[in-house]
Amino acid sequence: MKPTLNRRDFLRNLVLLGISGLAVGTLLPKIMKKKESGLLWQINPDKCIQCGRCATDCVLEQSAVKAFHSFPICGYCRLCGGYFQPDAPRLDTGAENQLCPTGALKRKFIEEPYYEYSIDERLCIACGRCAKGCTDFGNGSLYLQVRQDLCLKCNECSIAKVCPSGAFVRVSSESPYLIKGRDEQKS
Ligand code: SF4
Ligand code: SF4
Ligand code: SF4
Repeated sequence: MKPTLNRRDFLRNLVLLGISGLAVGTLLPKIMKKKESGLLWQINPDKCIQCGRCATDCVLEQSAVKAFHSFPICGYCRLCGGYFQPDAPRLDTGAENQLCPTGALKRKFIEEPYYEYSIDERLCIACGRCAKGCTDFGNGSLYLQVRQDLCLKCNECSIAKVCPSGAFVRVSSESPYLIKGRDEQKS
């Protein structure tokens, strides 16, 4: 039987800060913050092609973009396309089997054949590999979002300027995340 979805953990992922590992002392001096606007930068997960620029082009030393996981649409797969290298020698938690370069994506056994995957945001560098793997081979439950508590709200987001797919959009501060599976959560 499919395990009960961990809704509380999912919502908690949206609000936990988890920023202790972030180095914010090297910010560029000319950052222009959007102080009055109710608009925030966010990633449309349906447009993101996981190109890798979110990891390299944020003005922060460690990107304000993080991998998110939508538990309501996850298959809790034993063979997770977002977790394992395509040619993984074994389907276990050995570092050589993992797609994530920093070990930020965690795997926990629930019951045969289900596994739960969660993200340690302190380690996530927004490379998007997990999101690409999950989108290509799974349900697309792993995807990238701008963490609003980390984002400096630059007037001209340096990632938005180079995003090849137009995935960076302005959203209302009243609805700051473009969450996959939101409809399922309400049902
Ligand atoms: S694969 Fe990349 S985007 Fe996904 S959790 Fe690891 S560092 Fe973050
Ligand atoms: S607005 Fe600035 S801090 Fe936020 S994601 Fe874009 S470049 Fe990074
Ligand atoms: S730059 Fe755009 S397409 Fe590339 S990973 Fe970021 S949001 Fe996705």
